[in-house]
Amino acid sequence: MGIALIAPPAAGKGTQSLKIKEKYNLPHISVGEMLREEVKNKTKAGLLIENELKQGKLIDDNIVLSLLKEKLKKCFKGFILDGFPRTIKQAEEFSKSFIVNYVFVLNIEKEVLQKRISGRLICPKCFNIYNDLIPSLNSKVTSICDICGESLQKRADDNIEVFNDRYNIYLKEIYPLIEYYSKKNLVYHIDANKNIEEIFKQITNILDKDLIDD
Ligand code: AMP
Repeated sequence: MGIALIAPPAAGKGTQSLKIKEKYNLPHISVGEMLREEVKNKTKAGLLIENELKQGKLIDDNIVLSLLKEKLKKCFKGFILDGFPRTIKQAEEFSKSFIVNYVFVLNIEKEVLQKRISGRLICPKCFNIYNDLIPSLNSKVTSICDICGESLQKRADDNIEVFNDRYNIYLKEIYPLIEYYSKKNLVYHIDANKNIEEIFKQITNILDKDLIDD
């Protein structure tokens, strides 16, 4: 089963992906995380993309596709793509080798996102996501991951200026992608202004219905 989540920055695609992963036992690939790992490990690709990533710009399609294809070699049962595709070229190239069955688009108000961006913290080890400004997303101990005990970090691109740029890029990129996947009847719009469990319920309602019908 191939699932893609498309959403503006901080809409909760990481959080929902982890929940889908847990329930349906599918590998989760955060393309943003994959790129940040390249930078952290100072690989050839990492050195090339470091600045663009910090500025919230989209990374070159060929770099993203080649890193992603490498990751997917180990995913035999399917995948959850978090933040991919982000351009039509990515979608088209990807479809030559892989099948996407569901494209979930998380729709959410810009004001809610701005608040999330300011408080978001991420675990660099297990990638769990927290938020200082949203009580239900606080870690139990300040700045420490509940799951693995690692110190939480703020992402280099999580600030309001970069957020505004990333949001504008998203608006530009999303409409062609929705059109592209709508023609294939693969788009499911999710109301992401709700709480985590309510958002997840909308997703599982769709996935469970199809799995039971099959
Ligand atoms: P995310 O973790 O999804 O918010 O992505 C963080 C950053 O990674 C984005 O602002 C882009 O710079 C880069 N990125 C993530 N996914 C892609 C993609 N599919 N294509 C190009 N750049 C991406």
